[in-house]
Amino acid sequence: MSIKQRTKSLKAKGNKLSDAFYQLNVLSGKDVKDAAFPKFVDKTKALGYDTLRPKPIEIFQLNIGKLCNQTCAHCHVDAGPDRKEENMSRATLEKCLEIIGSVDTIHTVDITGGAPEMNPHFKWFVEEVSALGKKVINRCNLTIIMANKKYQELPAFFKKHKVHLMSSLPYFSKSRTDSQRGDGVFEDSIKALQLLNEVGYGKEDDLILDLIYNPSGAFLPAAQETLQAEFKRQLKRKYDIVFDSLFCITNLPVSRFLDYLLESGNYSEYMQKLVDAFNPMTVEGLMCRNTISVSWEGYLYDCDFNQMLDLKVAAKGTHLDDFDVEDLKNRAIVLNQHCYGCTAGAGSSCGGEIT
Ligand code: SF4
Repeated sequence: MSIKQRTKSLKAKGNKLSDAFYQLNVLSGKDVKDAAFPKFVDKTKALGYDTLRPKPIEIFQLNIGKLCNQTCAHCHVDAGPDRKEENMSRATLEKCLEIIGSVDTIHTVDITGGAPEMNPHFKWFVEEVSALGKKVINRCNLTIIMANKKYQELPAFFKKHKVHLMSSLPYFSKSRTDSQRGDGVFEDSIKALQLLNEVGYGKEDDLILDLIYNPSGAFLPAAQETLQAEFKRQLKRKYDIVFDSLFCITNLPVSRFLDYLLESGNYSEYMQKLVDAFNPMTVEGLMCRNTISVSWEGYLYDCDFNQMLDLKVAAKGTHLDDFDVEDLKNRAIVLNQHCYGCTAGAGSSCGGEIT
């Protein structure tokens, strides 16, 4: 059974899984029959990591809001048009800038959402980060470019600031894309990719356009290299579209994808697949080792998934107001059962395969 698009966020529907605590309860095996799996922390301990420690922070990732023009079935943020209030404020973004500018090891600012472009301070923030000389990654859902006339200037804006774009495209066919992301998403994504190509994205060395693939059901992604070759061939042949790299991301059992797994009766089987595919070689390259993730309210997390499960950093300061690099350097990364999604097979991170 493949995942099907949704029209409302779990939160708007009053679904229990919109509560992080309830999700953690499910993952612990307490709420699902025959679903207690070996503890992830024991896996890393067996490899000699008594606690998993971070490396210097290189990537400052911000989730600047849960507002989105789409309601994708797999979304671990539970984003959607109904989440208007949860947007990062200008004051919080200013605090982020202060930190980004003062921590030398941070070379990249990775902006995600929701649709980040729907935050009213988005453009100002990108300009400010660029002025600091740091690289900007924007996780653009593509359709936002076509959603409204005011967003059609985005390709030129991205080009001006050499924003590195990472955009989800579940497949090179309409049926698989629309079933996961919503009716009409494929067509708008194709048009947006063509506009990005027109201004030089995917063609010029400093205008990077990467695509993100995630499976449309309870299975692990195929090999990234093979899928990339197929995406490149099909998108060029059918739509004359070019891009730089394709990154494969495993669906983690969090939020809407967790809801799908439970509803479809696939939860235990999928978790077992992740556990069986545990790959020790991925641990050194986990994204939580060199990233800090900031919520729209300014709380700090080891990664975007921990953010959605409200597992704050295990440090004295858990908010931007108490940001202390030395304190964060000594923290233990907070691990839980969803982490099996990052270590399965070739591994999975915001930048695709790990090994
Ligand atoms: S979900 Fe992945 S990135 Fe996040 S803490 Fe777990 S292993 Fe690290």
